[in-house]
Amino acid sequence: MTTHAFIDIAAESRTDARVPPRAGRDWALFLDIDGTLLDIASTPGSVRVPPSLPRLVETIAGLLDGALALVSGRAIADIDRLFDPLALPTAGQHGGEIRPRAGGVARRVRAESAIDDHVRAGIERLARQAPRIRVEDKGLSVAFHYRYAPQLREWLHRHLERIATTAASPLRILEGRMVWELLPVGHDKGTAVDEFMRAPPFLGRVPIFVGDDVTDEDGCLAAIRHGGHALRVGPRRVLDRPIAFADPGAVRHWLAQLPAMLLAPDACRT
Ligand SMILES: [Mg+2]
Repeated sequence: MTTHAFIDIAAESRTDARVPPRAGRDWALFLDIDGTLLDIASTPGSVRVPPSLPRLVETIAGLLDGALALVSGRAIADIDRLFDPLALPTAGQHGGEIRPRAGGVARRVRAESAIDDHVRAGIERLARQAPRIRVEDKGLSVAFHYRYAPQLREWLHRHLERIATTAASPLRILEGRMVWELLPVGHDKGTAVDEFMRAPPFLGRVPIFVGDDVTDEDGCLAAIRHGGHALRVGPRRVLDRPIAFADPGAVRHWLAQLPAMLLAPDACRT
């Protein structure tokens, strides 16, 4: 693998606010996607994956003996489309579904969905009332994007609270960037990290969670609980962590340096 393969990523270099810890071959890397690996776009479907990113991520995963997972609010099927042809260890829908091993089968953490017919009926009513809100049904969770109607943020939250309190199974409401998400309680990015860390290739490694949003806080806490680090991307609050990367471009620049760092003689297991 030559460095020039990642030139389109390295060219996007940014200045880091805080130098990340020294990379080790004993790391387990957990990467959020939107706002961390990829620049935020106006809709989830319009994000751009830099052409060399999948291969770079695959190279790093190889150097970590496979201990690299994507941890996102997106559904795993959607993540696989973005990172095709990779099928990395992945947690989707905020830990609602998980593929513990590369190339393995993705499974739901709970057999039944908490988004039942009653909840769906409430969501359909809401969508009819506010057609400018984009409703994204991911199966285990539903996202309500209000980017095109930001004035409806509070109105939307009130309605989602009403839906959540009348649901048969407990639901919680999570805020992301210009989006509210309705999802079951009982799993989050932290429970996903816990599950990955229970088995090889993650077991016994130092977890590093990289995320940009409050939705990453559970994952960050889990990484710290397992003796690792949480690295924040950008200006949004993540556990009051200092900013490690100014933006996704800085994360990609750092990732482009990682293969060399991990192959350096002094990067052996710490
Ligand atoms: Mg994010």
